[in-house]
Amino acid sequence: MTIKILSDSLINQIAAGEVVERPASVVKELVENALDAGADQIVVDVVDGGRTLISVIDNGGGMGHEDLAKCIMRHATSKLADGDLLNINFMGFRGEALPSIASVSDMTIDTNRGGNGLQLNCSTGEIRPSAWESGTRVRAENLFGKTPARLKFLRSDRAEMMSIVEVVKRLALARPDVGFILNNKWRYLGGQSIYDRTVSIIGDDADGRMIEILNTSGELKLSGFVSEPTFRRASSIDQYLFVNGRPVKDKVLVGALRAAYMDVMSAREFPAVALYLELPSGEVDVNVSPAKTEVHFLEPSRIRAFIIKTIRDSLAVPLCAAGKFETESLKVDQAVIRDDNLFCVPNVGHDLLFINEPGKYHNYVQNVAARYVAENSAPAADYPLGRAIGQIGNKYILSRNVGGLVIVDQHAAHERIVYEKLRARQINRQPLLTPIVIKLKSEEVAAVMEIADELVACGLKIDEFGDDAIAIYEKPADWDLDWTKVLRDVASEVRSSGHSSKLSEKLHLKLANHACHHSVRAGQTLDLNQMNALLRDIENTERAGQCNHGRPVYKMITIAEIDKWFERL
Ligand code: ADP
Ligand code: MG
Repeated sequence: MTIKILSDSLINQIAAGEVVERPASVVKELVENALDAGADQIVVDVVDGGRTLISVIDNGGGMGHEDLAKCIMRHATSKLADGDLLNINFMGFRGEALPSIASVSDMTIDTNRGGNGLQLNCSTGEIRPSAWESGTRVRAENLFGKTPARLKFLRSDRAEMMSIVEVVKRLALARPDVGFILNNKWRYLGGQSIYDRTVSIIGDDADGRMIEILNTSGELKLSGFVSEPTFRRASSIDQYLFVNGRPVKDKVLVGALRAAYMDVMSAREFPAVALYLELPSGEVDVNVSPAKTEVHFLEPSRIRAFIIKTIRDSLAVPLCAAGKFETESLKVDQAVIRDDNLFCVPNVGHDLLFINEPGKYHNYVQNVAARYVAENSAPAADYPLGRAIGQIGNKYILSRNVGGLVIVDQHAAHERIVYEKLRARQINRQPLLTPIVIKLKSEEVAAVMEIADELVACGLKIDEFGDDAIAIYEKPADWDLDWTKVLRDVASEVRSSGHSSKLSEKLHLKLANHACHHSVRAGQTLDLNQMNALLRDIENTERAGQCNHGRPVYKMITIAEIDKWFERL
């Protein structure tokens, strides 16, 4: 074996494997370049999920002749002036994107830096005059046409398009000042406030339900918006996180977010957020992977604590803002919502608080109030599994009945209930004379249509209804679900986990879960209402004593047994 030096084109294709995994990564790199060039208007056009054409037009500074010739050379960048890899103020810095994309597509660049327009044919390296007037247009055609092996790994056009939409949304949220248009369908006006951009990205249903976040500690700053606890999504897809202006998917941040919402949201629900963390560039390494969605923090635990505290404090504000409440003692049964404008909540201590800022915290307050009532009422004699008194280890529900104490394994119980419901179910299909039309965001429509065939197996026959709606033509006869919610959840899952062969399996469970209101797993925090609902479900389920793996679902400890422990014979 003799050692050979790889050709430039091969080197670029190998690098492309890391930088441009799929069409969405091409869009990401090109849009980032446009932002780095100072553009405030970016127009993206994609044909056939990006395989046939990706075009990105910007009104940024453009390139002169010399730069244009250099830009497709490897490791050629104008963005690392001081050569300091930790001090990166641009989106890109590796000088790898353009040569990589050029090596796996037919690419042309039209640009104008204020003078005559120029066009670079990236396959031949030839530069000639062009009528291009200002800014830059990069066109990448026949993506992966030169690397058929890679082409095979692309998913359906629709699925690739979905990823592109996610990429553009993330970048659009990173820069609310910049206008973005994707395929003339997703349009975000330039110069929006962060709030308006957040709502246009997350969805109109977020309007009025996002809480502003703003806190600084030393050189750390966290700002943006998080959803109030009652505004939840079925996946983390609407969590938009930015570090120093860069969209990231980072474990430290996601973990902190989960921890901040732990008391007000179950582990299977996700707040929608647009959060911007800023810190000195020396304290974060964004140079981790070519895709650059991961970062490393110098002091992750400090960042985590700062985020948790900031969000918790912001969520708690309406509950304790001075002057917003007065204390008064009330009878226990009054600790519920009295009217639309006044809630009363049991304080952590003994007093009850009036909260004069309703609406936003409706469900949360209701839960706290319900818990208070449940904890302070006499034990019920009526239910075999009694009334819930609390949860331990986020795994077991404790309940008291007339006989004593009941301990329930919530996960085993959940499994049994879902399983029995599935077993009992035979889908009776009900064709609908008038289809049910569900309005969704276009990307949700795309996501749901992606698995339309699998949905048929679950008794749901659907089709697109314009760009932003789904029509249901046939549904399972026995289920009248909140179809908007079901389809949103399905879309959320498809968008976050992509295509999945196990989807129909999941879907069965998902539908069954929806049908039985509550689905619970080990590790999930439950409020008393949810615990009691689960207890009632178990009582109404056949063979409820064991889960479908044969493990016990609950155990009862009689008062007589407890008496023995304490030698009260
Ligand atoms: P990087 O962005 O890491 O510098 P790229 O390969 O993406 O590397 O781009 C190489 C160079 O080409 C950039 O540093 C920039 O000078 C120039 N360039 C790329 N896209 C544009 C654009 N849209 N407008 C102006 N200059 C651009
Ligand atoms: Mg770049």
